[in-house]
Amino acid sequence: MDFNQLRSLPVLDAHIHLPFPALVTDLEELTDEMNLERINLVSTPDVAEINHNPAVIAYKAKHPTTTFICGGLDHFSVQLDPAHMPEAFAAQVRSLHEAGFDGLKLLESKPIARKMINIPMDGPIYAPMWAELEALSMPVVWHVADPEEFWDEEKCPAWVKQSGWFYGDGTYPLKETLYAEVETVVSRHPNLKVILAHFFFLSADLPRAARFLDAHPNVCFDLTPGSEMFFNFMQDFNASREFFLKYQQRLIFGTDSGASAVGKPGQPLNRAETLGRTYFVRDFLENAGALEIPDGVAHWRRPGQEPQGLSLPAEALQNIYAHNFERLFEKTPRALQLSKCVEMLENQANFLDQSARTTVNSSARQVAVQLSQI
Ligand SMILES: [Zn+2]
Repeated sequence: MDFNQLRSLPVLDAHIHLPFPALVTDLEELTDEMNLERINLVSTPDVAEINHNPAVIAYKAKHPTTTFICGGLDHFSVQLDPAHMPEAFAAQVRSLHEAGFDGLKLLESKPIARKMINIPMDGPIYAPMWAELEALSMPVVWHVADPEEFWDEEKCPAWVKQSGWFYGDGTYPLKETLYAEVETVVSRHPNLKVILAHFFFLSADLPRAARFLDAHPNVCFDLTPGSEMFFNFMQDFNASREFFLKYQQRLIFGTDSGASAVGKPGQPLNRAETLGRTYFVRDFLENAGALEIPDGVAHWRRPGQEPQGLSLPAEALQNIYAHNFERLFEKTPRALQLSKCVEMLENQANFLDQSARTTVNSSARQVAVQLSQI
């Protein structure tokens, strides 16, 4: 696994998680080592921290020209006044935009989150938020559903069950219910810019993926694993390569680096996993022949099955590595408004303090203090 063996092209990783500000240095070192030119950090809801907005702000404050950030919603403070949730979510999006966030990240359609939060994505509560995102031309990175085997007791892998992502007990929304909500939202908002994460979990059904992309020109898929995608694509290698060539302007490189650090304060970024993810997705796109899955992501391996590389031409790689993201976002990240960021972080820290009835050493407090000293 030698990053210098990969194509010398500018690469933007559009899907990295940074849950804690303490991980900033780890990520700086890894992005250098992996030759990433730019990154997009995605913040999700978090039961202890509210969301990862503090950490992604801290990173962007240090790397303002190379870091895009997609904010996460606050599902906690809105509970104080449930009747006004629709306006509150729209106002959150406006505040994120004013603070210099580049986009919004939604994990709210991952089955476990959709079950817990229990707000239909296409219902009245989120309706003003979608309208606001469309009006602001603010892109959304949206995780919807999961691989179909996660609903299937027999096919669901053991590591998935251990993560609490087996959905076959009848209490979780069905995959098709989640898809129907997306269909309604993107049909209602044709100018909404959307990146559906993890290939929209349609890698086992490329004709359906093609129909969806044809019907919704402002939607892209990111290529963030779900490692199942590499094996699904092998069902018909030629059709898959054809798909990548035909839809090369609708696919976006991403890795989910940092995702395994979510909810685990005090742990470093998993270096082997981060390098393994990034190397393998690039190896798959760039090279030909049977590919070795790196040790850092050994849990992706399937005995007797070897993914083959797509060896895409340079033009397709440039689209996937940067141009498609730039078309939805901008070439350079929006400027952070530091005073607005500090205000937002202090509100978040105060809310956590009040909820705990004591002073909490939250990420929001740490980053608010850091930024006030700039
Ligand atoms: Zn992710």
